[in-house]
Amino acid sequence: MMRAVPGSRAWYAAIQRESELRWQAMERREQWEEENERIRGRYRTPRSDRPRCGARCRSGKPCQAPAVWDYGHNRPRNGRCRMHGGLSTGAKTEEGRRRSREGAKRGALVSADRRRERRAGQEQGPV
Ligand SMILES: [Zn+2]
Repeated sequence: MMRAVPGSRAWYAAIQRESELRWQAMERREQWEEENERIRGRYRTPRSDRPRCGARCRSGKPCQAPAVWDYGHNRPRNGRCRMHGGLSTGAKTEEGRRRSREGAKRGALVSADRRRERRAGQEQGPV
């Protein structure tokens, strides 16, 4: 764009035009946002602001994928990504819940046993 002499009539006109264009852009953006709001019904947290999964990956680092999002409530479903159980909402029936609890208890006992065994093995030296 040609640079007008500061203070000249053309310079003021250019500034005015620029300002008008900016206002128009802002109005368009507002309309667009309102339209989006209407379509969605409610505010959605932007993807970049959603919490990460954080599960331990095979690389040993925390998973960086975003948690599975519950759009109806605008919150993470259970905090994990789709690869790390984020789609699971857990057992529904009382029977299922009971089995899940027992499995967790058994798993905890097994891993405690393993830890104890490992420790005993280390005290005796390498096998
Ligand atoms: Zn994950």
